[in-house]
Amino acid sequence: MKLSELGEFGLIERIQARFRAPDGVTGIGDDCAVLHQSTGRDTLVSSDMLIEGTHFLRKEIPPYDLGWKSAAVNLSDVAAMGGKPTGTFLSLALPADLDTDWIDAFMHGYADISERFGTPLLGGDTTASPDRICINVTVLGECPYARARLRSNAQKGDVICVTGSLGDSAAGLKAILEGVERDVEVQRLIDRHYRPVPRVPEGEELRLNLGVHAMMDLSDGLGSDLQHILDASGMNAEIDVSAIPLSLALKHCCQRFGWDPLALAVSGGEDYELLFTCTPQAEMLLSVPHFVIGKVTSSRSVQCHPEPVEGSSHSGLDPESRITWRGTASPLSPGFDHFKKG
Ligand code: ADP
Ligand code: MG
Repeated sequence: MKLSELGEFGLIERIQARFRAPDGVTGIGDDCAVLHQSTGRDTLVSSDMLIEGTHFLRKEIPPYDLGWKSAAVNLSDVAAMGGKPTGTFLSLALPADLDTDWIDAFMHGYADISERFGTPLLGGDTTASPDRICINVTVLGECPYARARLRSNAQKGDVICVTGSLGDSAAGLKAILEGVERDVEVQRLIDRHYRPVPRVPEGEELRLNLGVHAMMDLSDGLGSDLQHILDASGMNAEIDVSAIPLSLALKHCCQRFGWDPLALAVSGGEDYELLFTCTPQAEMLLSVPHFVIGKVTSSRSVQCHPEPVEGSSHSGLDPESRITWRGTASPLSPGFDHFKKG
């Protein structure tokens, strides 16, 4: 079988099947591994890689932004657990002809975000690469014992929330790839793609509310990431498509360039907002800015009797999905998979 048939998540499952996490450890499958410590605090660890040509184009992304983003996407995985990031490790594979100014600018961006979130660089590895730049960051974090918010704890009746607007990052990438002229609005979208801000304080605050049950960060796209929470929790969900928050910049740019804002918000990744489920009572008390976009259900009865969407013969339902998208006229594809085409 080819890897493209197995897909990214099929491969991770296959790797996972060979290993069993020891007692006291939550291993593969969440945004971070969680290790209980004798101090009564839990240690959080996560690792993410960025490869030239796959995650970024060297001639497009300013090296400062790439340094920022390399750390940001990792800090976001600690935020996704409700944890506090404490430090990072950085491994670089670089072609020998790379200009040292590029590396200085990269490290400038990396240092600025590290300072902002109080996460010193603690080590790493450096090696030569034949041609492409490869970056791997490992982040360490902590949180009180057994308080990390796992993907597996969504409960029936929970509301589903996101901490901010979706689709900007994917639209920013589209603008870069299509060479759209960069006015203020377009630049705002590109900034969200190049310089995501991990929702670290928001994640820590959400962790303090015991009614917040499951949480993750949105890296691959709502369609794919919510599916992970539902799979891990054995639940289904209904999403009110009209409640998905879209920024004004995204709406305007979609009107101007004929892009589909919903496809960008649902299938586009790298927004790095937090996606969480909580009780309706807890939701009313949350001080963290958030948007309620749907609810967790345990049955798929709605799927058996799909509501016809006005003006369309399509129900917007994918038989494979645990998610019912209410109020869409076209099928929504899930988020990003590194090995599957399309
Ligand atoms: P995220 O998008 O939050 O970084 P991923 O989708 O990359 O998460 O990974 C999902 C889970 O699979 C995580 O727990 C991650 O640590 C684990 N994982 C991914 N690739 C590997 C691998 N090659 N070996 C072991 N675990 C992996
Ligand atoms: Mg994540």
